[in-house]
Amino acid sequence: MQDRYRLPRAVVPARYDLVLEPDLEAATFAGTAEIAVEVHERVDEIVVNALDLTIEKASIRSDGSGDIRVSDVTIDEELQRATLTLESTAEPGSWTLALTFRGDLNDQLHGFYRSTYTDDDGTHTIATTQFEAADARRAFPCWDEPDLKAVFGITLVVPEGVVALSNGPEVAREPAGDGRARVRFADTMSMSTYLVAFVVGRLEITEPIDVDGVPLRLVHLPGKGHLSKFALEAGEFSLRFFTDYYGIPYPDRKVDFVALPDFAQGAMENTGLITYRESLLLVDPMHATQPELEDIADVVAHELAHQWFGNLVTMRWWNGIWLNEAFATFMALLTVDAWRPDWERWTSFGRYNTSAKEVDALRSTRAVEYPVHSPDDASGMFDVLTYQKGAAILRMLERYLGADRFRDGIRLYLARHAYGNTETHDLWHAIEESSGEPVRRIMDQWIWQGGYPLLTASPADDGISIEQHRFVADGGSDHAVWDVPLRVRALDGDETSVLVPADATMAPASAGAAVVVNAGASSFVRVRYEGGLLERLTDRLPELTPLERYGLVDDHWAAVTSGAAPATEFVAAASRFGDDDDLAVWQLLLHGLGWCDRFLEGDHRERLRAFVRGLVAPAMDRLGWEADADEPDRTRALRGALLQGLGVLGADPNAESAARVFEAEARAGKPVDASLAAAAVNVVAFNGDATDYEHFWTAFRESPTPQEQYRYLFALPLFRDPELLERTLDATFGDDIRSQDAPFIFMYAMINRDLGERAWAALRSRWDETQERFPSQLTIRLVDGTRYLTKPEQVAEAEAFFAEHPIPQSAKMLEQMLERQRVAAALRERATPDLEAYFSG
Ligand SMILES: [Zn+2]
Repeated sequence: MQDRYRLPRAVVPARYDLVLEPDLEAATFAGTAEIAVEVHERVDEIVVNALDLTIEKASIRSDGSGDIRVSDVTIDEELQRATLTLESTAEPGSWTLALTFRGDLNDQLHGFYRSTYTDDDGTHTIATTQFEAADARRAFPCWDEPDLKAVFGITLVVPEGVVALSNGPEVAREPAGDGRARVRFADTMSMSTYLVAFVVGRLEITEPIDVDGVPLRLVHLPGKGHLSKFALEAGEFSLRFFTDYYGIPYPDRKVDFVALPDFAQGAMENTGLITYRESLLLVDPMHATQPELEDIADVVAHELAHQWFGNLVTMRWWNGIWLNEAFATFMALLTVDAWRPDWERWTSFGRYNTSAKEVDALRSTRAVEYPVHSPDDASGMFDVLTYQKGAAILRMLERYLGADRFRDGIRLYLARHAYGNTETHDLWHAIEESSGEPVRRIMDQWIWQGGYPLLTASPADDGISIEQHRFVADGGSDHAVWDVPLRVRALDGDETSVLVPADATMAPASAGAAVVVNAGASSFVRVRYEGGLLERLTDRLPELTPLERYGLVDDHWAAVTSGAAPATEFVAAASRFGDDDDLAVWQLLLHGLGWCDRFLEGDHRERLRAFVRGLVAPAMDRLGWEADADEPDRTRALRGALLQGLGVLGADPNAESAARVFEAEARAGKPVDASLAAAAVNVVAFNGDATDYEHFWTAFRESPTPQEQYRYLFALPLFRDPELLERTLDATFGDDIRSQDAPFIFMYAMINRDLGERAWAALRSRWDETQERFPSQLTIRLVDGTRYLTKPEQVAEAEAFFAEHPIPQSAKMLEQMLERQRVAAALRERATPDLEAYFSG
């Protein structure tokens, strides 16, 4: 059956010649398109996608048959298409469709949109694009479906002296009269519409770096070139890494990275013209924390990974977005791990993996892949299950098969499908062919079934018996089972791969052996150890990898949230990790303790704070309160996490005074370790008054890097004075805060332990304003803090409010957010009396 959202295939495009003339002052654009099409059967009309465009003229012509006028253009807003009625029937053959159209540069950060910045000369407009998933249709009439690939010949008519960029390199520039230039770009490879891009504005470009014949540049606002070096280095490494890994040269002619002041998502992999949020591209490594640098390296590698996997070989339809994104996420981890092994990228991935497991444990989780019909279905796929769970299950497969066999399958897949479109099973077939393992059978269960297993390991006569049940956040279960590719490691012996089938399985182990089930924490499972198996491991914690220790803490906290273990047991177990030196382990301990802190008041809370100080201060003292010059980056980051844990969760006055010194020095431009400076900002905000608040605003406006700006901006909602919160929330509707950032301010404000309730009230009363001003792609971020409000009346309010105010573009994520709120509310109910008894003196 023809899906109503899919275009008819009687006429399909082969090549687009586009001329676009943006008027930066008026925020409008005019365009013409000459589209070479193949008419496959006799037609009286041609249907294309178009949205918020005025089509002024249209006709088709053919060398053999002459011209046919378009007598009528009807627009269907709901299906986002235009039907061009022909004056006479077009016979099968090659035709050219000619269109003239115009539209507005919108402020919604999608389609062809307007971004602005202000300098001493005034306010300047950048005209730029964001087309994925289905917004190319807002810039030009097109067959806006990923399998209708075509070559794009793009020309931009722009004011003289203004930078104009598109996917291909510039090949010609000539005066167009009236102070404008006509800039033509090289033809693209045959590719999908969502990968087309143009950027026009007063910008600067770095000198190209020659990466084995591919010129790599970075495009930025005037005066920011000194912040470009790190991303270019990451880009250079990644380009070479992928060329080698994929065994295929870079498929296009050049790479430009563009840092945009207004950008809804993180970045976009447009072929040869990759666009980013400024904070994910521009950085001064001396003033950035390791996690901030890691984010940039990740995103750079991710978008370059797509140039092959996604751009050269593309999903047939949007149900395949998950594979596109999961694979690029996985490849970014692999690349960054190769670039900076000292960052232990797979260990820090543990935190992302946890966030996917939290969502995937819900009743309202979804299968990784699902049928996609409408554009809203497609936008719902850009979530933690696509990116993080998807990457995690690819990692599981890679570990199980071995890195080389997995890579050989990827090479086969890309070579076989270059310039084409695929379904997910094409990848499994290729890896199956190269590895000889039943990859499709295994992966189908992980792709088409939501959730994941809890493996229960217990000692048996001749080894370790492993049973599986689905792990469900509310403590229940169901009958889902998986074939689990698993690595099992005896601390005194070998590591082996086993495939855990639906029924109980046996991993060989000698009696009394200490065995890590899920060695390297590389499978997407949780583990419960029974019959003394856990103690055998916790007695020998230093012999576990950081990620394995992380897994123990993570699974323990998950047992608490699902009701299988009391919160007090987690608190008691935390003490055993006091000697740990790994960042991810500590982040997780502090995360669990942070939830406990939400459930206690008065003396009980003071005793929890004392417990946190008793746990964290010795670790901080061991590290030292100042960074050494030659210290590993992750050690610095750990110090920052500990400072924040002490100063916020532990309410430690020493930490607060140290933080005040670090923050003031950093703000004054003195050299302070970035991790300490970043943590100090949060500690000062938590303890801060109106004077601090003013300083933060100034620092936000004047900070020389995007990272420092964001530290101050996103610390504003952490202040605990209700009046300051009002001011912060008001500002999200003003000129100081960009609409790309405003939703996150609300999110952090609702996470504020003391003022979240007020932020929630403000969100409800100003909902219409938020919907008018903030980009719709970010509405789900705007509301995400709601799940931290865990009193019964708040749960009921949220249920009622979102029933009245649905978020159709993120319906599933909203449902999940509400379920997470209920799970957290149930945790509050169980844990509060338990913790009160524990911390009663
Ligand atoms: Zn991506």
